[in-house]
Amino acid sequence: MNLILLSEQDLTDAHHASITDPRRLRHLHEVHRAALGDAFTVGLEGGNMGRGQLTRLDADRADFELQLDLPPPAALPLHLLLALPRPRMLARTLENIAALGVKRLTLMHTQRVEKSYWQSPELSPASIREHLVLGLEQARDTIMPHVDFATRFKPFIEDQLPELIRDRHALLAHPGMAQACPYDISAQQPREVVLAIGPEGGFIPYEVDHLLAAGFEGVHLGARILRVETAVVALLARLF
Ligand code: SAH
Repeated sequence: MNLILLSEQDLTDAHHASITDPRRLRHLHEVHRAALGDAFTVGLEGGNMGRGQLTRLDADRADFELQLDLPPPAALPLHLLLALPRPRMLARTLENIAALGVKRLTLMHTQRVEKSYWQSPELSPASIREHLVLGLEQARDTIMPHVDFATRFKPFIEDQLPELIRDRHALLAHPGMAQACPYDISAQQPREVVLAIGPEGGFIPYEVDHLLAAGFEGVHLGARILRVETAVVALLARLF
């Protein structure tokens, strides 16, 4: 935890916060070995970051005096379309994408997504939020990514995608495509990018054809097939 992420509920007034939950308290006590007067990097969810100085520290409560004068780091100009990975992979991927600065994520169904994944408790809002918070705390960011679901491939591609990719670079990551994934794409126009990443089994040819017909450019990352969680990081590092 490189930043203590505070929510509105933690604020006692505009310049003070109090935390009482076991997770953040345990981290303060056990990892930071915090003592009264110590200052930490803190951030208010959806707002500024800065310093929080401990004015009280008990086993079950920590109070901070806040100085929040720094904006969070820039977001990636990206909307990520990710075929729903299996629950454990989803958890790690959510953490990574929050840490890397993705602010828009659509989890979508494709042929090779197991239907049962959609019933996973990992998809509850509380669970998704928990993983995103870990990523924001890791990277020092305060802006919570927005996550939504496209549970049916064809209606999503036909009804929502045209609007979503308008005036944006739309890239489909798929092994074997002719074009190599570009570097530093946000230096080009248009700046905004939509990137589609497949499930563990990959996109089926029908899905690739539909995405290409909708206006996506197919790109590859070389001969090595990467796991979804690794492919996400490799693609974002290269594009941005
Ligand atoms: N067996 C599948 C690979 C799935 S890997 C197949 O051959 O298509 C999971 C996802 O990660 C892929 O759908 C793709 O979006 C991305 N990915 C992994 N390795 C890649 C590579 N070398 N080039 C482009 N995309 C890749």
